[in-house]
Amino acid sequence: MAASTTAPEEEIDIYTPDHLKSNVWRYFGFEKIQGKITGKDKVTCRICRTKLKYHGTTSNLRAHPSTLHPGKLEVDGGGGEGSGPRQARIDSMLPPSRGLPYARQNRAADLLTRFVCEDMRPINVIYGSGFQAFVHELEPRFKIPCFRTISGKITKLYDTTKDDIRGMLRGEKL
Ligand SMILES: [Zn+2]
Repeated sequence: MAASTTAPEEEIDIYTPDHLKSNVWRYFGFEKIQGKITGKDKVTCRICRTKLKYHGTTSNLRAHPSTLHPGKLEVDGGGGEGSGPRQARIDSMLPPSRGLPYARQNRAADLLTRFVCEDMRPINVIYGSGFQAFVHELEPRFKIPCFRTISGKITKLYDTTKDDIRGMLRGEKL
């Protein structure tokens, strides 16, 4: 098996520490695998999962969202504190690391599973950068489940669908 940077069985979270306030941190975070930050020398784009080197400043990070994801972020030219009137940074008060409420996250994950099954997509659509950008635009708080979660849900969906069909064949009303 080829070594992969994104092991499908691992739940990867992108975590931005609360003290990092720059706008650009809405688009980057540190990878957390099973709750542990894997390294602070690299950051990951939440939209396309590209990894960039992190040297403790955001200067090299700004170009990425403004060129690859234009319109998503007004990169404010490097903290012009005092260069303009004070702006309430509402976005910075809503940490992007906060996820969806559990019930919604779970419902959306079920629908994603249904999408994979009904539309006969390979599970790895979830790793596509286009798919991830689409999901991110609709609901940035939705955490795309890992491969293992989806395949587990597919097995469950298979079982319940099978039972439903059996019931239907026995003439039960569903
Ligand atoms: Zn990106």
